Amino acid sequence: MKVAVIGGGVAGAELIRVASPGPLEFTLIEPKRQIELQALYPEYLGGLARIQELTAPLKPFCERVGAAHVQEKALRLEGKAVVCEKSKVEFDYVVVATGATQNYFGIKGAENTFSINTLEDTKKARRFVEDANPERIMIMGSGLTGVEAACILAESLDASIYIIEARDGVLPQFSPQTSQLMEKALSKKGVNILTSTQVCEVKEDCILFGDGTCLDCDMAIWTAGVKPSQFVQDLMLPKKNGWILVDSYLIAQDNIFAMGDCAWVEIDGKLATKTGLEAERQAKHIARSLTRLAEGKPMEKYSVRASTDSQVALISLGCDCAVGVVGKMCIGAPTRLIYSLKSLIDKSFIKRFK
Ligand SMILES: Cc1cc2nc3c(=O)[nH]c(=O)nc-3n(C[C@H](O)[C@H](O)[C@H](O)COP(=O)(O)OP(=O)(O)OC[C@H]3O[C@@H](n4cnc5c(N)ncnc54)[C@H](O)[C@@H]3O)c2cc1C
Repeated sequence: MKVAVIGGGVAGAELIRVASPGPLEFTLIEPKRQIELQALYPEYLGGLARIQELTAPLKPFCERVGAAHVQEKALRLEGKAVVCEKSKVEFDYVVVATGATQNYFGIKGAENTFSINTLEDTKKARRFVEDANPERIMIMGSGLTGVEAACILAESLDASIYIIEARDGVLPQFSPQTSQLMEKALSKKGVNILTSTQVCEVKEDCILFGDGTCLDCDMAIWTAGVKPSQFVQDLMLPKKNGWILVDSYLIAQDNIFAMGDCAWVEIDGKLATKTGLEAERQAKHIARSLTRLAEGKPMEKYSVRASTDSQVALISLGCDCAVGVVGKMCIGAPTRLIYSLKSLIDKSFIKRFK
């Protein structure tokens, strides 16, 4: 059974790894040469992780598991084939796992800020930190990425760090208890927190706010949200808010699966978060489903673990601490133990592909 996997990030690579060896013939369509782990970008930005710890080359991995690697971008689906930049990949089943792209919400100048959504962007940001020695760094957005980056930079640099959030608390997608704990942790590290603060425009050396005020800034980092990529937008599949809508088997349509950040996974009233944890679980589930299909067995339904109303996360706050969140429970004080656990989980993910 020929399976094309579009996107070799956390979800795509994990699917192929767990389904191999087996009855499936995989072709991975991924323009990059390596698997890249976003979860460690904030640490790379702060100089706490090395490139080797967050990447694994795809060629030896694909050779080891017997998958073909087409190092091109997928452009569209055409019947039972994926049309790529130079070639066409035929399939019996296809799995879309192309992640998400940065959303600038049309804010003037925001596209010129630094980003840590891709490794290339994170490397640019790291180089700027090293070369320009910025004294005032503004991080826009206080989701997981924003708070991790703020804490890590506050710890590793002698600079004033600001975190700017339009809503009324940091980590607005988490419980009030987690949000308060995180605000305390950020303040303790010396991070300036500006909540209920709307960014209107980002200029070269300052940020303009909705109330007409502005703040000088040497470096602006955008972490405030993601959106579906152009590739996903162009796919003629069922959608919800632009994301690929899947059913409880993670199927978008006929022989097309979707998983990870590019998919809208809402099952039994639980909407999956766009996290590595969910991407990995969905990948393992589709690997099982495809193997069962190849063996003539029925598929099983997926159940969401980390949902928007019951989050599961380990949040790194720099070298000395991290915070664990499971549903409404938030592990009291930040502890080095949780930091070590998160670090171990992230680094061991990449090691599996080496
Ligand atoms: C800075 C940062 C920190 C994070 N920290 C955490 C964390 O601590 N814990 C956690 O659980 N989650 C974390 N996340 C979220 C987590 O990284 C994502 O949810 C996860 O990577 C999603 O996996 P994915 O496979 O769907 O997408 P990705 O890992 O983004 O992979 C998508 C892949 O698709 C490829 N692709 C895109 N378009 C095409 C195309 N047209 N053709 C072929 N290939 C294509 C891309 O090159 C990429 O390799 C973090 C995210 C960021 C940005």
